[in-house]
Amino acid sequence: MLTIGMPRALVHYDCGDVWVKFFETLGAAVAVSPETAKDIVDIGVSLSVEDACLPVKVYLGHAAYMAKRCDYLFVPRLVSLEQRTYMCPKFLGLPDMVRAALRDSVRLIDPTIDLSKSARAMTQAVVRAASFLSKDPARSLSVWRTCSRAAAVCSTEADGRRKAVDCEEAAGLRIGVLSHPYIIIDRVLSMGLVDRLREMGASAILPESVLQDAVEPHLAELGRHIFWTHEKRIYGAGMAMASDPSISGIIIVQAFGCGPGSMIYDLFTRKCRRRSAVPVLNLSIDEHTGEAGIVTRLEAFVDMLTRAERGCM
Ligand code: SF4
Repeated sequence: MLTIGMPRALVHYDCGDVWVKFFETLGAAVAVSPETAKDIVDIGVSLSVEDACLPVKVYLGHAAYMAKRCDYLFVPRLVSLEQRTYMCPKFLGLPDMVRAALRDSVRLIDPTIDLSKSARAMTQAVVRAASFLSKDPARSLSVWRTCSRAAAVCSTEADGRRKAVDCEEAAGLRIGVLSHPYIIIDRVLSMGLVDRLREMGASAILPESVLQDAVEPHLAELGRHIFWTHEKRIYGAGMAMASDPSISGIIIVQAFGCGPGSMIYDLFTRKCRRRSAVPVLNLSIDEHTGEAGIVTRLEAFVDMLTRAERGCM
């Protein structure tokens, strides 16, 4: 039986679950890399160019971990999931980066998923990805449809993300956390921020928890189109949080060197200041970030919000 390896990072948090189910139904064994650990980060850092963002470095660490444990590595080239909106350029180059970093030591399954041009692109991607396992495209497509309704498959609102982070709300402060899903779900990348907030008596509200109906008016009001999938969601959800009186504060967690993030968080911060008095804490992470510094800033922020709630400020 063929084993297909999947790095538990980046695109995995957008559509990994459905691809796992798809390949398994077609008869392959699927192995997903374990949760990020320090050795995976170290390997990724050693394989990456210096100015890559930390999530890409971590992805390469996961890919290297899986390369020795599978026949094929699944690394989709995720270009676009909806018209006129695109993934970060790093997503587009993932198969190339993996090939270069691993020096072609493992065969890749790297279908291109570009729904910006036509919904049929998904069909082509599915058939191509399955060609290693099935010579019958009709069966592959039938399995795909069974595994998931095609239109919703790679949605950035995949339920898996919410399940992956236990965001059950506690009674205390409600704090919005703006970040990419692959940062916040990964406990090493986010330094366990959601758990830490919970320990401090606060609940983390993620962009994926905000209803689309609440996001849309803020995107429409902006008057220009945001071309990046994740960032569009982050901006709209962030503005919805800023307009929600039950949200006491907002924490931005961004990767150092993230191009789309630096633009969208700057736009959000400026718009948010004009609209709302909600305090915003901005945390930037890379492989050199010290946990103690992040915890200190979190504690100070939560302390400040608690005092404000009690009317002590
Ligand atoms: S959006 Fe930012 S953090 Fe995500 S892959 Fe692109 S550069 Fe890295």
